[in-house]
Amino acid sequence: MTRITLKGVTKVYGAVKAVDNVNLEINDGELFTILGPSGCGKTTTLRIIAGFEVPDEGRVYFDDEDVTFLKPYMRETAMVFQNYALWPHMTVFENVAYGLRIRKKQLRLTDEEIERRVKEALSLVRLEGLEDRYPLQLSGGQQQRVALARALVVQPKVLLLDEPLSNLDAKLRIEMREEIKRIQKSLGITTVYVTHDQLEAMSISDKIAVMDKGRVLQYGHPREVYFRPTNLFTAEFLGRSNIYKGEVVERGEGYVVVRVEELGIDVKAVPVAENLVGKVAVVVRPEVFTVGGQRGEPNTVKGTVDFVMFLGDRTEVRLKVGKASLIAYLPNTYYPQVGEELELSAPWRNVIAIPV
Ligand code: ATP
Repeated sequence: MTRITLKGVTKVYGAVKAVDNVNLEINDGELFTILGPSGCGKTTTLRIIAGFEVPDEGRVYFDDEDVTFLKPYMRETAMVFQNYALWPHMTVFENVAYGLRIRKKQLRLTDEEIERRVKEALSLVRLEGLEDRYPLQLSGGQQQRVALARALVVQPKVLLLDEPLSNLDAKLRIEMREEIKRIQKSLGITTVYVTHDQLEAMSISDKIAVMDKGRVLQYGHPREVYFRPTNLFTAEFLGRSNIYKGEVVERGEGYVVVRVEELGIDVKAVPVAENLVGKVAVVVRPEVFTVGGQRGEPNTVKGTVDFVMFLGDRTEVRLKVGKASLIAYLPNTYYPQVGEELELSAPWRNVIAIPV
């Protein structure tokens, strides 16, 4: 197993800083996701870990070894690409065997050993029996499994996955993300996963790094990043948020009170940093609201229902509160009418205040 460390990694293409002073620590056996919008530098970071790119500044370590300038094939990584990159003229078996065949001499592998390992890899991705098919005779999900088997068969120290599920339909994506998590956990292989899909990131990762404009803005356990975003970008990119700008008017033990003019109330919230003063933003997730005011409790707003959507497992309501609006997810037993008055409150421990 391998721990990956990036220290001050920067990569510049002409006028674009694709990766800007990135520092990351990826633990042994971890499934680590780099999440961010298109063009934020995810793929470049992954390619630097793979060795396809050399950073302009900074260092990459596998355990304590500096691999910054080590050639890709010396790093014992394997990468799975978005478009699978299978060879159409080779069978499933030969696609998966390829990586072993080119290392046959170096690894002193017999044909029997190659066959055993290919079968093992195909069984791991649940593709037994399809060895003789060609890629074009497979569904997208099966092709993705072949790509995964081809990466795993060489027993890499590090598995790199670049948007591996984005060519699949929604249902298959959910199925495959479970599969990837199952396989990754059963092998305990350090894995770096790149995606722009926040749900995918939250559902499979041990840790998520949120990237924007070449920089890692925050990283941690999915729950930590979701419940305690430390910056506006993360709060908006991961899940949905109601965000209001305001000013700190009171500070106490573990809380701040923020005057939010547009809502016409003072909001009590948990500060994400100590010494949060002046202008801040409060972030309230739509699922934290309860219907009805809590007597004597802060964070209660009254508004007019502006829009209602029944979503099966919940009802989504947009409330007009003064000049502002607010999205709340309510239990599916509620279905208020547009124009109705509604009072909602948010427990202050579920509301956070972040610097702006
Ligand atoms: P996507 O999700 O669209 O693949 P990404 O987050 O993976 O995006 P990168 O592919 O890492 O982003 O690109 C980051 C920035 O660097 C982009 O502005 C991109 O245009 C630029 N870039 C990447 N590779 C090169 C290159 N070889 N030459 C010039 N610019 C590049």
